[in-house]
Amino acid sequence: MKCFKDFSLISGCDETALTDAWMLTDQGRILEIGTGEIPERITQPLSASIEIISLDGKYIMPGMFDCHTHIGMYMQEGFNLMEGDDTERTVFILKNLQAYLNDGVTFIRDLGAIGNTQTLTLKKLLAAGVIEGPHIYTAGPMLCVTGGHGHYFGSRVCDGVVEVKKATRQLVQDGVDLIKVAASGGGFTKGNDVRASQFDQEEIEAIVHEANKRQKKVAAHAHGTEAIKNAVRAGVASIEHGTFLDDEGVSLMSEHNTWLVPTFTIGKAFNQPVPPHIKEVKKAYDAGIRIAAGTDITPTIVPHNVAWEIQELAKYTGMSNLEAIQTATRNAAQLLGVDTDYGTLEAGKYADFIVLNENPLEDLSAPWRPQQVYLGGVRKK
Ligand SMILES: [Zn+2]
Repeated sequence: MKCFKDFSLISGCDETALTDAWMLTDQGRILEIGTGEIPERITQPLSASIEIISLDGKYIMPGMFDCHTHIGMYMQEGFNLMEGDDTERTVFILKNLQAYLNDGVTFIRDLGAIGNTQTLTLKKLLAAGVIEGPHIYTAGPMLCVTGGHGHYFGSRVCDGVVEVKKATRQLVQDGVDLIKVAASGGGFTKGNDVRASQFDQEEIEAIVHEANKRQKKVAAHAHGTEAIKNAVRAGVASIEHGTFLDDEGVSLMSEHNTWLVPTFTIGKAFNQPVPPHIKEVKKAYDAGIRIAAGTDITPTIVPHNVAWEIQELAKYTGMSNLEAIQTATRNAAQLLGVDTDYGTLEAGKYADFIVLNENPLEDLSAPWRPQQVYLGGVRKK
């Protein structure tokens, strides 16, 4: 058992920090949280051996999530996702995993890998302790139509209800955590129009149906107005990007309780000063659409990518600091469906947390500077 003391707790649920706090952990999970002196029943020498760790008056908050990344997409001299061989990509992945941990990101949702098994293999290596990194929740390769977004960087091409059902079943058999579909064209796929729809609503419905049968959610890459609506009506869990979201799209998202992952940060990789869809994202936020933080870019390319994302979300939507933090913690865990174990610092959940010098509820730049990072109560930075 470990007992952390001398810190202020940002649980991810409350508007204010809990000062003079302590937190007891065992086997990776939080057993109990309190304030003031640690009770004798915990510290007395006759109880099981316990390690007391002082956090020197600093602040702790839940480890952050990146709900939209591509851990193995390698960028070198531009944005050719297929550049580099397997060895280069593997080195890049390992650097990304370490960079995420250093940045205080303890959970990532990988939305489109190159090849079939890259991220599934990574998950196995993480579980076996061969490598270190954040928890991974992965879609494996994305599904796309013939000539559609990502067809040249390892996405699985399928057309029509029969083929999309088979492709979804195959991915579930391979062990993916969710399914990612390209509902519209994408900027990096030659010949694609980002405003044009790709899968039809009927095809996305078939994918959602197959995925939901096995308790898997579907995330839809969607820029175009109609593609967003097709995906929402088909029942996807989240719209990724949502660039040309219109009023009807917002109403549909509200009706279907669909999440939005705006991915503002990817523009930083291309020196884009302002994300193209700040008006659309603000409209969604004002309408009460649930938002989760995803960057669409890895931290070796844009350092502190998640810290960037939450700052931009607050800046362009008017979210409070707590709400912005929640997009990368509590909300993110809800979107992934892992909120009974992760996302907030409460008894029963895993002790995945970061230690900051400043209070992020007052200064949203604080998550740029994690001093320490813990996974399951074990220090990783
Ligand atoms: Zn993406």
